[in-house]
Amino acid sequence: MRTIIEGGYVATVDPSGAEHATGHVVIDDGVISAVGAGPASDDLRPGAEIVDATGCLVTPGLINTHHHLYQWLTRGYAQDAILFDWLTALYPLWSRIDAGLTGAGAAGAMAVLARSGCTTVGDHHYIFPKGSGDIVGAIVESADRVGVRLHATRGSMDLGASQGGLPPDFAVETTDAALAASQEAVERYHDPSFGSLVHVAIAPCSPFSVTADLLREAAQLARSLGVRLHTHASETVEEDAYCAERFGKTPTQYLEDLGWLGDDVWMAHCVHLDDVAIARYAATGTGVAHCPSSNARLASGIAPVRDLLRAGVPVGLGVDGAASNESGQLGIEIREAVLMNRLRTGADSFSVRAGLQVATMGGARVLGRDTEIGSLEAGKVADIAVWRVDGVEHAGILDPVAALGLGAMPPLHRLFVGGRPVVVEGSLVTVEEQVIAEEVAAASLELAERL
Ligand SMILES: [Zn+2]
Repeated sequence: MRTIIEGGYVATVDPSGAEHATGHVVIDDGVISAVGAGPASDDLRPGAEIVDATGCLVTPGLINTHHHLYQWLTRGYAQDAILFDWLTALYPLWSRIDAGLTGAGAAGAMAVLARSGCTTVGDHHYIFPKGSGDIVGAIVESADRVGVRLHATRGSMDLGASQGGLPPDFAVETTDAALAASQEAVERYHDPSFGSLVHVAIAPCSPFSVTADLLREAAQLARSLGVRLHTHASETVEEDAYCAERFGKTPTQYLEDLGWLGDDVWMAHCVHLDDVAIARYAATGTGVAHCPSSNARLASGIAPVRDLLRAGVPVGLGVDGAASNESGQLGIEIREAVLMNRLRTGADSFSVRAGLQVATMGGARVLGRDTEIGSLEAGKVADIAVWRVDGVEHAGILDPVAALGLGAMPPLHRLFVGGRPVVVEGSLVTVEEQVIAEEVAAASLELAERL
């Protein structure tokens, strides 16, 4: 099976930053076999499907490094709250979810991600009510249905309010149950093979919702199983104050002391990192999921992305859960990242190409997949977004990459995951969008009624 995409502006995001004003990408059996300027060579054409990308921008598929897919069912709540108040408002609702509802919400969230150029979905699921079924399995099934690559994480919370944590006691598990279920999820669903569609990582939720024991033992467990670690860190000034009061440390010092800095770890947010913390992230290779819209929605602040990148820290993009980012579209987060980082550090501190880099190769590094995904290079799996930039929103723009990084999010001409078309002419072809929408509406209502 061969597909040739040609005639578009190709931004490869390869190590040299190669771009071709008119270029081609050849896919053979789901893997990129050639990328270059001009049309593909004639000897490759017999029997190939040709995708005419004239008027399009061709980029690597975007990589989402932080999400809570189940929150697709809880959009629009606690609209004017900061993080701790927002969490406290939503925990009771979230504590009513189960595998069926999560699967419906996840399908909706992943459908929207795919329609916004995302080919790899990182999820962080940390709430597992008693008797709620196989939630990780439901998310894996929904990713398969939509046709995207999944990095699921088995999250957890074991520090209830009676022990000094933020979540109510009814929302947490025991430490041992969380560890056992994390191991089971990895053993059941993690596939480390080349081009794998499902990875699983271990992800206790945050310093204010899990115990030190769980953090320490989760790190040991993940390393014994050969999988990555993920959590929220340094999101708000309130978290800083919590860690100072309870541990006498910054979140970075606390996490490092528990074995939580390393090139197999990525943290969501990292809004409030000082120079010392940035240096520790850089020295250890710890990754960061930058979530600009969510950080704005909750007024958490703007992460120091320019400084993180200058220090050599791997940085990817995340939409974060839809309860704090009702858009859920990854494509527009490039623009959000560009604009917000300029507000923090100046007009020349974060270019549209830096935004595209973070959204693709940056995310691949953060997820430990940089030899497989994140750029258009021969030998990588064919995760490719073909954005239409000749419509009324973008026609005539000087630079197609600026159309994506500064303009309205372009519609997709095609989205390929492992060479398989998932979006064609702006619509999903793997699932019926209307069916997904109706399932999400019903599941959202059911969850609200359970409260
Ligand atoms: Zn989050």
